[in-house]
Amino acid sequence: SAKRHGRNVSRRFRPALDVQDSPQMALVYSLRDALANGEQLELHYQTQHRVMDGAVVGMEALLRWRHPEHGMVSPGDFIPLAERHGLMGPLGNWVIDEALAQMARWREMGLPQLPVWINISAIQMFQGELEAALASGLARHGIEPAQLGLELTESVLLDERAGDIVPRLEALRAKGHRIAIDDFGMGYSSLSYLKNLPLDKLKLDRAFIHSLPDDPADAAIVSAVLAMARGLALDVVAEGVETRGQLDFLQRAGCRLVQGYLYSRPGPAEVIEAQWQALKTDSAGLMLRAEPTA
Ligand code: C2E
Ligand code: MG
Ligand code: MG
Ligand code: MG
Repeated sequence: SAKRHGRNVSRRFRPALDVQDSPQMALVYSLRDALANGEQLELHYQTQHRVMDGAVVGMEALLRWRHPEHGMVSPGDFIPLAERHGLMGPLGNWVIDEALAQMARWREMGLPQLPVWINISAIQMFQGELEAALASGLARHGIEPAQLGLELTESVLLDERAGDIVPRLEALRAKGHRIAIDDFGMGYSSLSYLKNLPLDKLKLDRAFIHSLPDDPADAAIVSAVLAMARGLALDVVAEGVETRGQLDFLQRAGCRLVQGYLYSRPGPAEVIEAQWQALKTDSAGLMLRAEPTA
């Protein structure tokens, strides 16, 4: 049945390119097959933590592709390919459905319901199917929109092909979704859009975190973003926090939320479940806490 399904999919998504034998095109075709049977794709999850006490406040879902020959292919490598070759719509829909299905499995296992954040590609905004895919997935798996956050990069938010984004974001938020700007600070845009866009959260790009606390320029930028976000009533998550020194700086600067290897690496659902079981015993199931590992 995977075969039969695969044939249908290949007809619909066959990329219109003539260079069919390049290694890149081979990857595109095998990604198309992976999408058709779903077996090589998985979501990994990385926890987000409150700085004050380490409490887990949510998770980001990150796409993984286990290629039969190449092993784990990084999303940084295959997502741009998927975007260029007409596969990002179906891939994005797969991510939405899989994240919601996993949340439903966790609910059935009696695990705490933490918000999951998914990454949204520009293609999903342009094609205009995002809202429908979200609505049908939420209904199918019985998940509240408030439990599913959407991460969009500045370039997605400001691309005019996405149409007038303000009413779309307002409608998504009215349903209960929360919206974050991903990789904040790495776009090439002015800050004025922060006034107009309905947003909940900024994710401060890890490029600014990496050289903390020693680099005075990064320290100044991070402090300024935190002050600005406070004024705009936006949460800030610092991405890519790897060291105790970075965490201490961020705490002193008033950053409340962090994500990074210091607390946890992204892992498959089973690893997250094992972490939870361990944390649950420690905390009587009331609050999921973790200690930084460095
Ligand atoms: P992102 O959304 O900014 O995700 C954060 C990336 O930083 C992830 O890389 C994560 O593994 C990595 N990371 C987390 N903590 C640390 C740390 O302490 N140090 C370092 N060096 N890295 C850390 P990953 O999983 O390789 O994903 C790369 C990018 O691919 C993501 O960046 C996102 O833009 C994109 N992506 C991943 N999954 C999806 C998806 O389902 N849909 C879409 N459209 N894009 C996705
Ligand atoms: Mg799978
Ligand atoms: Mg992200
Ligand atoms: Mg990011």
